[in-house]
Amino acid sequence: MRGIISRFAPAPTGYLHLGHVVNAAQVWGETRARGGRVLLRIEDHDRRRSRREFEAAILEDLAWLGFEADAPPVRQSERDDIYTHALDTLRRQGLVYACDCSRADVAQALRPAIAELTFHATPQLPELHYPGTCANRGLAEGPGVGLRVRLAPLVERFDDLRLGPQEQHPFEQCGDLLVRDRDNHWTYQFAATVDDHVQGVTLVIRGVDLLASTGRQIQLARLLGRADPPSFLHHPLIMKTPSQKLSKSDRDTGIRELRAAGWTPAEVIERALALI
Ligand code: GLU
Repeated sequence: MRGIISRFAPAPTGYLHLGHVVNAAQVWGETRARGGRVLLRIEDHDRRRSRREFEAAILEDLAWLGFEADAPPVRQSERDDIYTHALDTLRRQGLVYACDCSRADVAQALRPAIAELTFHATPQLPELHYPGTCANRGLAEGPGVGLRVRLAPLVERFDDLRLGPQEQHPFEQCGDLLVRDRDNHWTYQFAATVDDHVQGVTLVIRGVDLLASTGRQIQLARLLGRADPPSFLHHPLIMKTPSQKLSKSDRDTGIRELRAAGWTPAEVIERALALI
């Protein structure tokens, strides 16, 4: 593979923890092994939860760990024009419609389906499949109204570099995709897909918790005009319990704390990789 570009894309909604270190070690390790470049993207699309203080701390911890990007970081909060332009591409294809459903509305509309699954003792609730409530309402856009993109019921196939051949059905999984929410925030799915396309990312390395997002991102990228999707590698996660991944609130795994306790960068990276 030539001219490989990957990215490390943390959301600045908390401090760096061992889960991020696993991802960073995989991103830099796999990309460098292929002679590629790593971009750093601050995924601060959610303005409610993102904080500059976390961003600064993440950058500082990454530098301490020795993970150096090949270009200055970009912030999603400063890429509004790029997302608006991408949205126009979808609009011109007649794929965008306004939607004022809240998450609670969607959950309510799905209640019979969820009740059925719960009855069959499914350990985790399925992700919310948007049932298309607003698809043909012709609702006007405006404050307090979100935007969705129509997805066709296609099958998306890709070869994960670790897990092998994958087949996903995005429309059945999630329904029409929310691109901007009712508070006027671009969504993760949309912003990340646009950025991966516009930044020329050819290798996406991330945790297996995002595996289900990949088919819809491939489909969305195609609608945005991307002919060849990136390659994907989904790596294992550090689990707190068999069904619960590590989160930012798990304080004992924060890089700040480990640094203060005298750990070296090499020890932190080794510890993180030993936990997966
Ligand atoms: N911002 C996402 C996260 O922190 C990563 C998204 C991605 O790699 O696609 O989990």
